[in-house]
Amino acid sequence: MTHHSVSASFTPRRILITGASRGIGACLAQGLLAQGHKVIATSRRSSDLDFLGPDLLQDPNRSLLKAGLDVCKSETIEQVAELVDQHWGGIDVLINNAGIADSAPLHKTPDEMWDRLIEINLTGCFKVTRRFLGDMKRREYGRVIFISSIAGLSGCLYTSAYCASKHGVIGLMRALALEVAPTSITANAICPGFVETDMAHDAMDQITSSTGRSEVESRKALEAFSPQKRLIQPEEILHLTQFLIADQAKGINGQALTVDGGQVMH
Ligand code: NAP
Repeated sequence: MTHHSVSASFTPRRILITGASRGIGACLAQGLLAQGHKVIATSRRSSDLDFLGPDLLQDPNRSLLKAGLDVCKSETIEQVAELVDQHWGGIDVLINNAGIADSAPLHKTPDEMWDRLIEINLTGCFKVTRRFLGDMKRREYGRVIFISSIAGLSGCLYTSAYCASKHGVIGLMRALALEVAPTSITANAICPGFVETDMAHDAMDQITSSTGRSEVESRKALEAFSPQKRLIQPEEILHLTQFLIADQAKGINGQALTVDGGQVMH
């Protein structure tokens, strides 16, 4: 009889997170640091990352770097790449989390809303991934995780631009997964339902202002989308992320994994 080793070996990784100032990204930064990984936390303004405490530049014992990175501004992507090269010689894991949401019926969706959502949610993922992929390919190891949405797998009402951007992210991830398959790099997407962050609270406010419902009713309306009748917590996205970056997850590639209580089954 073959005995399989089930030892849960832990390898600390160098992890870059976009959009780490709030919500899911902030939870990922705190949770992955606590687990013993090295984290470079980024958001448009590095001062919005103060809650994470001092970084490596202020306290040499920390495994944290903080930097300003706007996914629409190539020069900030380049600056961050140079910073990690200088201190850590590259990254092992890229988490494309930065994103925004907005809604309108399609015939009332202005060019500006369409362009902004596609640029931040989709083109941003492409540009950041392109910058860091070459280094992962040279080292033949890496994990690229995209925080898409169930709106990347299914239609959602009055969110054509958001839906298109998140479907685009899934296409980008799938194409990348094939490209990197001969190496030890994987690319996957996490597709949450409504997660309890500013983004979901903004959606609740929008329901309240457009329908006159109370705050409690608006929350219930969002919860009702899930068969579990609840919002997902950011820690649940952290849990799946930890799973995907484990060495043992190297066979999981090109997948769009939902965390939505069973809302979308594909
Ligand atoms: P959030 O609380 O609104 O946080 C969004 C993050 O994205 C912030 O850290 C923000 O940073 C950053 N960001 C926005 N524009 C950026 C830009 N141009 N460059 C760099 N960073 C930028 O949202 P969240 O709920 O945590 O969402 C995180 C991801 O999960 C998004 O991709 C979202 O689409 C996805 N998602 C969320 C839900 C949900 O219900 N909450 C559901 C499915 C998927 P600054 O503004 O500080 O720069």
